[in-house]
Amino acid sequence: MSIKVENVSKLYNTQKAVQNVSFEIEKGEVVGLLGPNGSGKSTLMKIITGFITSFQGDVLIEGVSVKKNLLAIQKNIGYLPESNPLYQEMYVLEYLTFVAEVHKIPKKEIKNVLDAVGLTQEAHKQIYKLSKGYKQRVGLAAALIHNPKILILDEPTTGLDPNQLIEIRDLIRQLGENKIIILSTHIMQEVEAVCDRVLILKNGEIVADENLKKLKEQQMQIIEVEFDFQIEKRFFNQLPDLQSLTSLGGAVWELTFDTKEDMRSKVFDFATENGLKIIQLNTKNKNLESLFTELTN
Ligand code: ADP
Ligand code: MG
Repeated sequence: MSIKVENVSKLYNTQKAVQNVSFEIEKGEVVGLLGPNGSGKSTLMKIITGFITSFQGDVLIEGVSVKKNLLAIQKNIGYLPESNPLYQEMYVLEYLTFVAEVHKIPKKEIKNVLDAVGLTQEAHKQIYKLSKGYKQRVGLAAALIHNPKILILDEPTTGLDPNQLIEIRDLIRQLGENKIIILSTHIMQEVEAVCDRVLILKNGEIVADENLKKLKEQQMQIIEVEFDFQIEKRFFNQLPDLQSLTSLGGAVWELTFDTKEDMRSKVFDFATENGLKIIQLNTKNKNLESLFTELTN
């Protein structure tokens, strides 16, 4: 199971949509493509799935170039486009039967897919009568019907209510246990909730490629604080979980804590206990949120 994206660039006339993007995915993992609107997520996904064929660079799926053997590629890939185009007037089962025929998949597989996405109860309903969350499941079922090793989901949770969101995220995580999943989102919490790895896109370029588990482990909390008076370094020993201490000149200090607990109130207590006033205090978290804001602003 592998995807290799090699120096991919895409121009729409003069608009640079994707610029020199390279990455590899070699095992079943959920990879988030995180970036603001217009950062090139959908374009990159259309290139990987073979929907856009004119671009620079190459994409190899299981070592095969999308430029050379599109049909073989599409056997390995399931794609849920951003707009989730469905035949609204069709019945769920009817629609999936149609999709199965397109892929030359035996009808008996449909039952398994309905089951996998939790649609069995809705099989005999017309698509337009379903909630947005259930429509997304129909789109997912259609993307899954040929049991692809790779799933590409373009903003799969946009427009869902909180309950539907949790259900679809659970489903994605579950599917990601034995498939490569690339999902796009502009919501950072989404990445934290479902992904193993994140690629951050800005203006068509990848500006970060991070392992979420590692990122969570190194969740340092940095507090920059200015007191009204100078204070000796040794006093800071009173603060718990303090990992490092840097003097930024004057009575300004940068304190790095190795804890997820919000340390601001501890710093306030510390000031009071030592007869100091706090002139200003800023927190800088070294987590996905700060990384994303820093890299995309
Ligand atoms: P995202 O999915 O991250 O919102 P897109 O890939 O849709 O980003 O768009 C990336 C850039 O390419 C944007 O500036 C967008 O306006 C432009 N773009 C996307 N599709 C087209 C198109 N068909 N023709 C011209 N420009 C496009
Ligand atoms: Mg998009």
